[in-house]
Amino acid sequence: MKGLTDDRLEFRSIARELRILIAPTWPVRVRRVKLPESVHGDCSLCMPTWKTPSPYFHIRVSAALSRDAQIYVLIHEWAHALSWGSESHRLPNHGPEWGIALSRIWQALLED
Ligand SMILES: [Zn+2]
Repeated sequence: MKGLTDDRLEFRSIARELRILIAPTWPVRVRRVKLPESVHGDCSLCMPTWKTPSPYFHIRVSAALSRDAQIYVLIHEWAHALSWGSESHRLPNHGPEWGIALSRIWQALLED
């Protein structure tokens, strides 16, 4: 990774790299959607239903943000998914576990 301005670091390829390099406990679905102006993104753990028999993380990123901001929000939300195990998804939002997950992500991306 040379820097966030590289073409190959488009949003989709970042999401793909994250899935390969640093996958959370459950699969992650990423969507760029219209969100309220005050919300840049969020992450939730979706529990199994008859339609989706295994849990998955759902990350939403505001489509209104700039390209770079979307990438930063994706990484921020990915750290939530990474720090939430199947049992520990009630951890404080930006506590030490989240900070460690965030630094693992940057390390993985920068070492690639
Ligand atoms: Zn957060």
